[in-house]
Amino acid sequence: MPDQPSIPTLGARAFVDRHIGPDETAIAEMLKVVGFDSLEALMDAAVPGRIRSSEVLSLPEAASEAEAAAELRALAGANVPGTSLIGLGYHGTITPPVIRRNVLEDPSWYTAYTPYQPEISQGRLEALLNFQTMVADLTGLPTANASLLDEGTAAAEAMTLARRAAPKANGPFVVDADALPQTIEVVRTRAEAMSIEVVVADLSDGLPDGDVCGVLVQYPGTSGRIVDPRAVIEATHERGALAVVASDLLALTLIEAPGTLGADVVVGSSQRFGVPLFYGGPHAGFMSVRAGLERHLPGRLVGVSVDASGRPAYRLSLQTREQHIRRDRATSNICTAQVLLAVTAAMYAVYHGPDGLRAIARGVHELAARTAASLQNAGFTVRTDTFFDTFEVAVPGRADEIVAAARAEEVHLRRVDADTVALSFGETADAATLRAIHTAFGVTPQAVEPARVLPEGLVRTTEYLTHEVFNTHRSETSMLRYLRRLSARDYALDRGMIPLGSCTMKLNATSEMEPISLPGFADLHPFAPAADAGGYARLVADLEGWLAEVTGYDRVSIQPNAGSQGELAGLLAIRGYHLANGDTHRDVCLIPSSAHGTNAASAVMAGMKVVVVKSAEDGSVDLDDLRAQVEAHASDLAAIMVTYPSTHGAYEDTITELCELVHSHGGQVYVDGANFNALLGHARPGKFGGDVSHLNLHKTFCIPHGGGGPGVGPVAVREHLAPYLPTHPMHPEADRRAGIGPISAAPYGSAGILPISWAYVRMMGAEGLTRATAVAVLAANYVAARLDEHFPVLYRGHNGLVAHECILDVRGISKETGVSVDDIAKRLIDYGFHAPTMSFPVAGTLMVEPTESEDLAELDRFCEAMIAIRAEITKVATGEWNAEANPLTGAPHTADAINQDLPYDLATAVFPNGFDPDKYWPPVNRIDQAYGDRNLVCSCPPPEAFA
Ligand SMILES: *Cc1c(COP(=O)(O)O)cnc(C)c1O
Repeated sequence: MPDQPSIPTLGARAFVDRHIGPDETAIAEMLKVVGFDSLEALMDAAVPGRIRSSEVLSLPEAASEAEAAAELRALAGANVPGTSLIGLGYHGTITPPVIRRNVLEDPSWYTAYTPYQPEISQGRLEALLNFQTMVADLTGLPTANASLLDEGTAAAEAMTLARRAAPKANGPFVVDADALPQTIEVVRTRAEAMSIEVVVADLSDGLPDGDVCGVLVQYPGTSGRIVDPRAVIEATHERGALAVVASDLLALTLIEAPGTLGADVVVGSSQRFGVPLFYGGPHAGFMSVRAGLERHLPGRLVGVSVDASGRPAYRLSLQTREQHIRRDRATSNICTAQVLLAVTAAMYAVYHGPDGLRAIARGVHELAARTAASLQNAGFTVRTDTFFDTFEVAVPGRADEIVAAARAEEVHLRRVDADTVALSFGETADAATLRAIHTAFGVTPQAVEPARVLPEGLVRTTEYLTHEVFNTHRSETSMLRYLRRLSARDYALDRGMIPLGSCTMKLNATSEMEPISLPGFADLHPFAPAADAGGYARLVADLEGWLAEVTGYDRVSIQPNAGSQGELAGLLAIRGYHLANGDTHRDVCLIPSSAHGTNAASAVMAGMKVVVVKSAEDGSVDLDDLRAQVEAHASDLAAIMVTYPSTHGAYEDTITELCELVHSHGGQVYVDGANFNALLGHARPGKFGGDVSHLNLHKTFCIPHGGGGPGVGPVAVREHLAPYLPTHPMHPEADRRAGIGPISAAPYGSAGILPISWAYVRMMGAEGLTRATAVAVLAANYVAARLDEHFPVLYRGHNGLVAHECILDVRGISKETGVSVDDIAKRLIDYGFHAPTMSFPVAGTLMVEPTESEDLAELDRFCEAMIAIRAEITKVATGEWNAEANPLTGAPHTADAINQDLPYDLATAVFPNGFDPDKYWPPVNRIDQAYGDRNLVCSCPPPEAFA
């Protein structure tokens, strides 16, 4: 298909002109300010010649939006979802249309950034607090985080948590033989690198003898069986270790909460709360913990604090646990999580409420129980006595035949072995599904009353979701308004520019987003037969091929479902390579001081020791220090992880020399590709010295940030590392099943959002992508040129140019005037902007990445706001404004400013540029960060708190 000539549609503008903000005239004007004649001349000067590639990328000719839509419909049509009863942690669910259209498909939710600026993120923070409250209630533990990447990785995180929190507990980590098979394998992949022994054991008769460092029980089990976990939990506690229970939120509406039964940690997936199957992801994994373990939680945690006027306000809590602060001592490497999907699942609970969820669970349970009774009555042996939604049937020698017969009816059953099939019911199963099942088994449905199959002693008696928010929005009108009220509190790309350094908040085009809702993409189970997933197979093959082409590597795996997971996968590939060469002692990972926090955290997870390399005066890696380090570690050097262009936003001249130095000392070069928006079409890390890179499709390749996830972090390698790429025991391609093990629960990770990046590449073509990079670099240099005299640009690379982002140095201004980066960031809100990245990678600075998608008018609006703020700072410096109380220290201002008796001019505070009918009003004043950590509250506060 990519080779078909594209016939230009009359009158339709090429997609590249929709994606790139500045038009020809604007580009000419910006070039003049930066001092170049053409984009080519700019890129020739900016990108060091040694890494510059002159070849045109070999990609299919750009398609129009209409052509790409037709091709994607054809690909979706080549997938046959049917009704899945495969189970294994993925279940049919109905996304309520009001939530699908007004969350999943609504840019005010999906184009939001991670809520690091809490004042302009109160809507999604409230939604995430609902998620935490929902998980905490259903699992019976007090504190839940704001999502993990999937159930398998949540279980792996629980293993490391158990080790951290009970350091005296020794011995293997014991995993229930009835745990999800992919969970067992993800845990094994992680454990291997950290030298933790994993023992898989049948826990139905209790815990095996001997020491344990932690235990994971699946409740209900993969087979459907529900075994009372109390005996195993108690035995685990007696041995001084933590008990982890992997569970299912829908089952927990009917069976007792693991927390009530003594569990220390509960993990799982919230997929079946309204999130489409998506061929395996993205879905929000979850984790809740008992009191005392909060500070060990991985990932983001939303908490309640107060704002400057004393009102409750939400923010991210206990950030000192996280990779961006704690680096190699962080609780995990998680950065991007699954916010959009967590919001969707939480809203599903808000809309249905406890009664509605219980009714859905009862419906699913009844359908399963009736089917079991009917098959039993027809002479089959049902192997599972007590179950919620899943049971196994003995079909001696007939499993393949029955699974095939069901498939002919478009119902997917699970083949357990040659003599057993399993059936897992979900919200989408109905009377037609029952008929198809009976046809497949060759019997007629029997109307027998099902026996009671929920275990007596485990029927749920504790309450859940009693908070008002889960008991209010029953009508669609009320739900719609609640969703709208929350998203209206937030600042996302649908309002204006989000100039965040390192995060590439570019356009997420509607034509890229629409296809993910096509049933062929949305409703496919990850373990559906390969023959029913032909569309995804082609889509993945295209995308992996295109990503290999643009990066200059030989092989790509799109399995990792975030940048952090791509890093881990890449480092595990390096580890596998060294081990295969007999270099068992190579375990040192060099990381420049300016690196992103995930790098150090990932290296630790890959079993490596982090050694920091200094930065030179100009921000580049200090080559003298590097030389000293590679020599000191000549015998144990595993790798260097280096971001290119660096997190300082500069193309460093020394990158090829750096690669040679590391290679000549036996190390591998990991090029963190999060900044690939500065290279795409102009330089290829696989050709200038990298052995492995990850890309962030949620940065460079247009997957929206979703308010903090989902993401996709493909890992790309040169041929010698290809044997060590992630595998998956249930991979649709047979040759990708055995090997290093899975890094995500599903074979293709977050497959459901890959159509977005596919569409982007397909519609831009080689020329469009190359041009986008040049315009992104132009925009950053334009902002740098306009703002330098007001806020000095900290680092510049080759020929005094920056790459795709620039760091504005505020330290001198702060020292002179007392105005902080915080004051500037919060004041920008009054001007109608999201703040740039604050204090990363250098404390006291702001990092701006405008991207190619912002047009010149928006870039100018931003520059003018910054210049106006600089003038305000001067008023503080000269004493014209009171240093303690002024529009900067008071920012951001809510509409309540009219009641707040400000000691400065009200109009200046709220309308710094004069009246603006489209003004964004933040819902809260500046939030007290420290208060929230001192008074940790991580579930919905009672309504009286807001009185
Ligand atoms: C964003 C980023 C990462 C991490 O990616 P996630 O998807 O958030 O895990 C790693 N390195 C750099 C330089 C980044 O900017």
